[in-house]
Amino acid sequence: MKIVVVAAHPDDEVLGCGGTIARESAKHEVYIVILGEGIQARYNRPHSVSRKSQAALEAQARAAAKILGAASIRFERLPDNQFDTVPLLTIVKRLESYFQKLKPEVIYTHHPGDLNIDHVLTHRAVLTASRPIKGSSVRDVLAFEVPSSSEWAFQRLGEVFRPNIFVDISATLERKLAAMGCYAGEVRVAPHPRSPQILRAIAQRWGSVSALQAAEAFELIRSVRS
Ligand SMILES: [Zn+2]
Repeated sequence: MKIVVVAAHPDDEVLGCGGTIARESAKHEVYIVILGEGIQARYNRPHSVSRKSQAALEAQARAAAKILGAASIRFERLPDNQFDTVPLLTIVKRLESYFQKLKPEVIYTHHPGDLNIDHVLTHRAVLTASRPIKGSSVRDVLAFEVPSSSEWAFQRLGEVFRPNIFVDISATLERKLAAMGCYAGEVRVAPHPRSPQILRAIAQRWGSVSALQAAEAFELIRSVRS
């Protein structure tokens, strides 16, 4: 089975479903697509992102993907926190041609209610690019939460994250945290949601909901059983 994780920024794939990627890669091929550059707005860089820092961030993403056992990681390099300056159709077309080539059965992506605009548009583009037309390979689309974006919308901006699928990551939580450790510039100190302690607490919280030691939570957006 082929699984694709479509994330807006480098580190979202780890925060959203790193434990699940590590778990699923033991049995399936997991491909990661990072749509945005992940540097520009975050570090207040001028418009032209330095090639060196972009390469460094992509190297961190590759290291994280390796820890998680992903089959590959791909970078589309859209402008960070400015996906709304790119025609939605451009993002859709890129994903569409990738999905047509790869033929994934399962897609994990952002939840549409996040605070971050790139997350919202990523969800939208994935939904369009994977729409259930004849010949489409995609069976399931699932949305993940991203700590420091999903909860920081305070249920004001759109759909609320309502998880209904819980994946046991007791055996892979440490790999998720190690993969997050590759992103030196993105890790924060507790009580920030992107700190190792709080990521562990979130996994335990979803575990408490599902009688597991540690879990990642997903909202099933669509499932087609043929
Ligand atoms: Zn993000």
